[in-house]
Amino acid sequence: MQVANDIKESQKLIDPFGRHVSYLRVSVTDRCDFRCVYCMSEDMTFLPKKDLLTLEELDRLCSAFVDQGVQKLRITGGEPLVRRDIMWLFNRLGRHLDSGKLEELTVTTNGSLLKKYAQELYNAGVRRINISLDTLDEEKFRTITRWGRLPQVLEGIEESLRVGLKVKLNAVALKGVNDDEVDHMIQWCGERNIDLTFIEVMPMGDLGNEDRLEQYWPLSDVKRQIEQSWTLNETGYQTGGPARYSVIQETGARLGFITPLTHNFCESCNRVRLTCTGTLYMCLGQEDAADLREPLRASKDDDLLHDRIRQAIKLKPKGHDFIIDRDSQISNPRHMSVTGG
Ligand code: SAM
Ligand code: SF4
Repeated sequence: MQVANDIKESQKLIDPFGRHVSYLRVSVTDRCDFRCVYCMSEDMTFLPKKDLLTLEELDRLCSAFVDQGVQKLRITGGEPLVRRDIMWLFNRLGRHLDSGKLEELTVTTNGSLLKKYAQELYNAGVRRINISLDTLDEEKFRTITRWGRLPQVLEGIEESLRVGLKVKLNAVALKGVNDDEVDHMIQWCGERNIDLTFIEVMPMGDLGNEDRLEQYWPLSDVKRQIEQSWTLNETGYQTGGPARYSVIQETGARLGFITPLTHNFCESCNRVRLTCTGTLYMCLGQEDAADLREPLRASKDDDLLHDRIRQAIKLKPKGHDFIIDRDSQISNPRHMSVTGG
């Protein structure tokens, strides 16, 4: 906290709409050991490895943002934990937690490798993690993720809790898929003191035969369904993300809703997203982007990089325009696995 104040006002990244950009999400790879139906096609073509920033470069880039007042870093992907030597990056970035410049280092993962890495993540300074899990049914899990195995993820969750990580589950609400499981998931999370957030399926990328419209389940409907069995008490709890939280009276756990389509949360958006090739996206739903790889490689000191980051933030748009309807099936051509969700 102390050092956050030490960053001069003039160094902070303020966008044209007065929003302080204090949160960077970094996709460290576009690869994944799953092929979730709403995220990737089964025969994805991934970037050639040579196009990826090295871990040293990712560290330098993240550190340049931290130097300019970014207080929260989320490592994501693709599946971040499949990237070789990824713990090196977590351990390196941990120094910014030690210095107090960074308030939080966190990760979004599918959980498949948490049995192996939970302890190391904790040791690097990670305290909260998001795990994506849409179902507790093994068969459905295989259908949704195509390549995933539920028991492996459950072991990862158990290990994370054991080492002391605070776990939040993110579940994409899918009509006809997990709509009958909502009560069970709430109960299951409540028993483990795990917070749960539902996310509306977003029209990302062209995934061929999977029809996102058929699966679209507005969270207003999800919430109505939940309220038939549970008491939701509104709270002002914020994690710096777009979720709105309630506390479930019966379990004491938090329940969040991320509604990019039915509720516009752009006015409080404090985040930007970096891809594994060094492209900075100012908004999940817009194309405004800046290449940071070129300034990163052009010079050994960080002045040019800092300058390009400041210029890029000036491009941050006011908001996105996702629309999902039957007449105009608008889709954003970028896959979530590129921008990191
Ligand atoms: N592989 C990691 C994981 O699954 O947690 C991190 C990357 S993944 C792209 C980040 C999040 O994006 C996951 O929670 C996933 O469910 C979500 N996601 C992917 N495609 C989506 C879509 N079309 N609509 C809504 N959420 C999506
Ligand atoms: Fe992989 Fe995450 Fe996308 Fe699923 S949502 S395919 S786990 S990147």
